[in-house]
Order: sequence, then C-alpha cells, then structure tokens
Amino acid sequence: MLKFAWLKPVGRVINSHRYAFLVGMSGLAVFAVLLTSGQIFENESSTKSTQSSAPVPSATETIPPIAELIDSKPKEPGLAGLKQHFKLIEKASASNAALPMEYTLGPTVNQANAELVRSRFQEKLKVFQSLGLKSLDMHWVIASEKDHDWWVQIRQSQFADYPVDLWDTEENMLGHCRLDPDIFCGAGNGVNNGFYQDNVIGTQFTNRGLDQVTRHESTHFYQSSIGFIDTCWFVEGQASFFELYLEPTARTRDQVIVRLMNSPTKVADSTQEEFERKLNRNSICDGDPDIRYDLGILVFEYIYQNYSLQDIHNLLVETNKTSWSEATNSVLGVDATELNAQIAAYLFAQLASARS
Ligand SMILES: [Zn+2]
Repeated sequence: MLKFAWLKPVGRVINSHRYAFLVGMSGLAVFAVLLTSGQIFENESSTKSTQSSAPVPSATETIPPIAELIDSKPKEPGLAGLKQHFKLIEKASASNAALPMEYTLGPTVNQANAELVRSRFQEKLKVFQSLGLKSLDMHWVIASEKDHDWWVQIRQSQFADYPVDLWDTEENMLGHCRLDPDIFCGAGNGVNNGFYQDNVIGTQFTNRGLDQVTRHESTHFYQSSIGFIDTCWFVEGQASFFELYLEPTARTRDQVIVRLMNSPTKVADSTQEEFERKLNRNSICDGDPDIRYDLGILVFEYIYQNYSLQDIHNLLVETNKTSWSEATNSVLGVDATELNAQIAAYLFAQLASARS
C-alpha cells in the first residue's frame, strides 16, 4: 500500500523524502521505507474490498466538542476505549470543510476515479485539520499507467532535477509499486519546501484498499506538514495506528501481532529490559522492515492511552525544533528513558499475553 522513503540530499534536493503506495489485484497492500541509510524496508498488510467509511453520527450519540476530545485521553480504559475515543475524534472532525487538493490530471486517467481518490483523501485529512492542518503544500499529479511521457514533461517543467527515475518504465514501477492496470500507486518527493505527490490510478482501478491507503497516506501528509522524525517507530507506527483504529477493513490487531511474533529478528521475544534498551538506542526497528509498522502500532496504543492527540501533535512539532529527548521532557513532562521504560513494559505485556 505504501512505500515511504527518505533520501539523502542529492544536488539541489534538500530534506528529500519519497514514498509510494499500492493496492494490488490480490488485495495486498505493500509498504516500504527507505531511510537515509539507503536500506529498503518492506512489509505488507492484507486488505479487503472497501467502501466509503465517512463517519455518520447516530441520532442518539452525543459527540463531545473536538477541542475537548483532542486534548484528552480516552475516557474508557483499554483498547475498546481507545478505539471509541478515536472514532469520536473522527466523527467530531467530520464537519471540517474539505481541504482544497488541486491536482494535474493525466491524459488517460479516469477523472471520476481521480475525484474519488481526492475526496477520500479529503475525508481522511479531517482528523488532522482538527490539529490545525490548514493546507497541503503539495504539487499533485494523478496519471494512469499509460501517462509516463506526459508525466515526465510535467515534472521536468516544474523542477529540472525532478527524480523522474521514480517511474521506471522498463520495470513498470512507480517507486516500489508495480503499475498494474488496477493499481493505485503514489510516490511523494519532498524537495526543499515543496512536496510533489505523484499518483497513478490504473485504467482498470477498483476501490480496493482505498480507505486504508488514504487513511495511512493522509497521516503522512499531516506528518510532512510538520516534519518527519528519526524515532524509528513513529512515522509508520502513527500512520498504521490510524489505519487500524479507524478503518474497519484494515488488518486486524491479531494479524499485526502474529506478523510481529514471526519477525525474523525475534524482536517479540525480547525481555522487557531488551525492549527498553533497544528503544533507548532507537534500534528496535532494525533488521525487519515490518517492525516500524507493527510494533509502531503497539507503541501508539500505549501513547494514545496515556497522552492526548494534541500532546503527541505537540511532541512531533517540538521534536522537529529540538530533539526527541528534549521534546518528551518539555511536552510530555517525562524523560525519554522513562517513557521508553513505560513503552517497554507495555510491549512486553502485550506480547506476553499474545503468546499465552
Ligand atoms: Zn507509511
């Protein structure tokens, strides 16, 4: 579904990152992260066919004000309370006006499908508008798999050094996403302060996976508006958390844990002390591309049960200005090592109960 990459600066390209996502005929969504180390990480999550998930409050449901919701922890304990809390946040955010998302349309892409993708992104972004997201600084192109030459012209006219090798016609790939006719692919490049988003909607596109992909990607759009951070479980963990907790068609939590327990790194077998040590070294994601997604979800379960959505937003903002450890102190009032100890205890408990 998503491939995400942070690239080393090349030439005039500074603070560059790129990502891509896909949903294939098989219903498998594939993720990857390419970090500044140049390593490629991949994982995949199963998806099912999907329908619009726009929240509709029931007649009898009372939704607290959004300002109250984003500033508070879940009222009910446990994961059910956590889910309920985020569902309420989603519903309370539904009245936000759709953010403008302009795009340039390729010559052979189906316009109705392009509108569907845009409207679904706009729907998913509303939660982040409640955190202050006001606009997207993105240059969007939506093309079909047949529009390569047109796309190269468009991008090179905007930015001479645009990395057009992102779309490899020999391999038929956009980033790490194979351009099958039913595909929905995306690739983003952050160039200086600009953000270039390339999407390919196949000429035989189906809606499969649309909600999960747009939910996950919307989280990255929000993150990109603030800045990405190095804490290895944060970026993909947060995006995957929103996917799991707000999209009924996403992977189940059990599937997440099973994959984590099958990681070749044996990370799930770590003792609590090992979890803590790896978190402190920011090495817990090493050796398996899936960890930052799967373990990241569990970390965010702990975080969002104990800190508000606004707290974590502020933490992301502050980490971009200072450092992770300074930000946890100033925003959350907790030392980073203490936070890691708490997260380690949660991870250990969750995985121990999964094993029993
Ligand atoms: Zn992602």
